[in-house]
Amino acid sequence: MRDFFERIVSVNTDLIWITLLTICFTAEQVIQQDLLKKKLKHFLHGIPLQAGYMLMNLGLAYLVVNSVEWINKQEIGLFNLIKIPYILKIVLGVIGIDLVAYWFHRSYHTIPLLWRLHRVNHSDTHMDSATYLRFHPFDWLLDNSALLTAAFLFGLDMNIIAFDFILYLPLFMAQHSSFIFPEWFDKTFGKLIVSPNFHKVHHHQEQTFTDSNYGNIFIIWDKLFGTYKYLPLTSIKYGLEEFDTEERQSFWFLLKSPFMNIKKENND
Ligand SMILES: [Zn+2]
Ligand SMILES: [Zn+2]
Repeated sequence: MRDFFERIVSVNTDLIWITLLTICFTAEQVIQQDLLKKKLKHFLHGIPLQAGYMLMNLGLAYLVVNSVEWINKQEIGLFNLIKIPYILKIVLGVIGIDLVAYWFHRSYHTIPLLWRLHRVNHSDTHMDSATYLRFHPFDWLLDNSALLTAAFLFGLDMNIIAFDFILYLPLFMAQHSSFIFPEWFDKTFGKLIVSPNFHKVHHHQEQTFTDSNYGNIFIIWDKLFGTYKYLPLTSIKYGLEEFDTEERQSFWFLLKSPFMNIKKENND
């Protein structure tokens, strides 16, 4: 069982996300044929941001791997204290990572300094596969702080962390694609997971909706902690009011935006 699991998590995750991105991007061009013509700039501004994020990852991934190894050597975390089968550790580990990710994501919206980094992803006025690229390179620190906290609390190894990433990746791509998922999908799978339609509400400009649906994989956290909101897709206006100009959608502006005091016009 453990061997089989190790084989699953040893797949190249970079290859998975590049393949998924290519499939999503190609399907979007075929279904919405003028997409590339309309949104080429959108895509091109996202590429250097993602390149920066990946460079951070290349340079600092060893920090995360070594920290997780250290946590396990010291036998820190809940699952190092109690003896449970490894399969249960995997299941509870995925749930645990998702719970920690929920609270971290919520803090990115409430702590002004963290919001400055996270708002780069929210600034996107379109929702398609290029949105997947739009993360500030320093956002790496936020993502990995959440993972390390989960590893520390629950005593997770790198294989469980990688498995959670492999599970989340296709859902993440679907949540940020321009495909419209049917209502029955929300009514069935949406009872358990953050369906793409639910996540799109999180990218709505209106603040009460921006500050909702924080979950990554499971919708239960939003329902449990009172942050679940629903809106039909036709009512959603993507992005942030304060980033809603062509200049503020550019790579250079997005890169420097965390270091700028940008407010909504009606808040000034
Ligand atoms: Zn957010
Ligand atoms: Zn999102």
